[in-house]
Amino acid sequence: MSRIIVVTSGKGGVGKTTTSANLGMALAKMGRKVVLVDADFGLRNLDLLLGLENRVVYTALEVIGRECKLDQALVKDKRQPNLSLLAAPQTRNKTSITAAHMKALVEVLGRYFDYVLIDCPAGIETGFQNAIAGAQEAIIVSTPEVSAVRDADRVIGLLEANRIKRLKLVITRMRHSMVQSNDMMSVEDILEILSVKLIGVIPEDEQVIVSTNRGEPLVLAEKSTLAGKAYENTAQRLEGKEVEFIDLKGDNNSFFGRLKRWLAGT
Ligand code: ADP
Ligand code: MG
Repeated sequence: MSRIIVVTSGKGGVGKTTTSANLGMALAKMGRKVVLVDADFGLRNLDLLLGLENRVVYTALEVIGRECKLDQALVKDKRQPNLSLLAAPQTRNKTSITAAHMKALVEVLGRYFDYVLIDCPAGIETGFQNAIAGAQEAIIVSTPEVSAVRDADRVIGLLEANRIKRLKLVITRMRHSMVQSNDMMSVEDILEILSVKLIGVIPEDEQVIVSTNRGEPLVLAEKSTLAGKAYENTAQRLEGKEVEFIDLKGDNNSFFGRLKRWLAGT
């Protein structure tokens, strides 16, 4: 049985694409067959984060328009053959892709892959409706900011209204030092508002930017990073395993965080 999961948030720039790329790669490393579907039509950056942009020939648009076969549009990752990408077209307005098209597409993909992860665009308009059309589950991504949490809450309501009830939460860009100084919402604060099962807390980590520029998801990098480890743990929890949450009390950027990492030799 395959799992068709949309990665969504409402608000833009909260880490959906970063989460899709890292979870997809982590699950692939665990031996699962994964396809990442970039449903952010017009913006298309999942291919960049994965370093696959030069290998994209066809996109979801040509598959839906029957201009190519599905396997012609799937880009297999050479570093991790369990992972494939279906890229998004770079134009948004000229497409007449509907929710029914997307639903049919992800259902076909579900026949060949264990996981179909759909990277959703920001907002709750057509692009969102298309991205959630075939999903059975959702991963809600939020940063610890009031505006992001409020949007996540709204999206949860919309997902439930669309009969997507298996919801999980990933909190990104967490900075413990700011939580301690009462400048940022804590995990507990967020869970009080969004009563959804938490499967990941990803610390703010400048290595995310390095990895994006390199086109190499953190979970692939040889050098282990706090955010990379947090994404690997999130993938394990998605698989139903019980994994303890990393203690972020010494987060990356604080003095104690650096000291802790130095002591741990990482
Ligand atoms: P979305 O897909 O929701 O728009 P992205 O995944 O593109 O979000 O991330 C938005 C920005 O935030 C990017 O510049 C990305 O590098 C950065 N970012 C995401 N997660 C982290 C993190 N854990 N630490 C630092 N920067 C992050
Ligand atoms: Mg994105």
